[in-house]
Amino acid sequence: MNSFDSEKITKLMHEFLIACGENPEREGLEKTPTRVAKSYAELLSGYKVDIKSLVNGALFNVSYDEMVVVKDINFYSLCEHHLLPFYGTASVGYIPNKKIIGLSKIPRIVDAFSKRFQVQERLTKDIADAFYSVVKPLGLGVVIDAVHMCSVMRGVKKNNTQMITNVMLGSFRTDLATRTEFLNNISRNPK
Ligand SMILES: [Zn+2]
Repeated sequence: MNSFDSEKITKLMHEFLIACGENPEREGLEKTPTRVAKSYAELLSGYKVDIKSLVNGALFNVSYDEMVVVKDINFYSLCEHHLLPFYGTASVGYIPNKKIIGLSKIPRIVDAFSKRFQVQERLTKDIADAFYSVVKPLGLGVVIDAVHMCSVMRGVKKNNTQMITNVMLGSFRTDLATRTEFLNNISRNPK
């Protein structure tokens, strides 16, 4: 994959503004192409993250074998169909197989995949697959609850803007009780 080319994006944003019928030389827009390139460098910084080195050193041996749940991790992403934001929360639960991961690493895994052009379904799977391959838990669940600006702003389906996706692996997939425990844990109104 090519790396992020700020200079080219700045030039293209200048052209983009012209194509929108705007005057990129006017005061308010003068520095916009540079600002946009700078913003997107951050919004798309997930492409550069290597998960193995991100997690490196943050796996700890434990005898704990009950479910660990980290819920409502805020994330912001960009939908690859419209290049508009979608954002919400990700919740991750797992049952350790002798290893747990440092708490701060889970939001960073979420960030690594959300700061890219994404669709919510793939984002959910990317997080689950990366976590599963590095931590190797007995079971894992990832649930993402998000609002898509391409839907909200364009007013296509105003009343159906929230989307929930989930990926269940290992015992979360095969064992209904485990999956239910996880879903109850992350529910806003636990039963
Ligand atoms: Zn979209």
